[in-house]
Amino acid sequence: MSEFDDLYQEVIMDHYRRPKGRADLSHIPDERAMENPTCGDTIKLEILHDEAGRISEVRHNGHGCAISTASASLMSEYTRGLTPEEARAAAERFIGALRGEGKLDELDSMGDLAALRGVAGLPVRVKCATLAWHALLRELGEKAS
Ligand code: ZN
Repeated sequence: MSEFDDLYQEVIMDHYRRPKGRADLSHIPDERAMENPTCGDTIKLEILHDEAGRISEVRHNGHGCAISTASASLMSEYTRGLTPEEARAAAERFIGALRGEGKLDELDSMGDLAALRGVAGLPVRVKCATLAWHALLRELGEKAS
């Protein structure tokens, strides 16, 4: 964790302690949860849309470490008001940047998500940070088809 800037660390711990979008999703079967076996993180998502088809809220629940929980919370905040297409593009940009496929600097244009840039280059942590976003892509994909 020494690679984290203090400010970023604070953002992450804040979202971990008080996750935005966390909700009771016991109506969604556990089989729908996405897992990150490397760390033991699990997450369930539910995407709510407004009348215009934009995302009004991404709700999440699960058991996760600080990184995966903070990332889910930041995702819930970031995706509010986006179209499904915009949310998909954001997920791909975020995952790509952390994996080193895109430019890491792109995270700087994604608000507080920049707080997670410290995990890039730490493969185990990248899986924690991207879990919620993979779940988002899966849910969006199924909505589209
Ligand atoms: Zn984790």
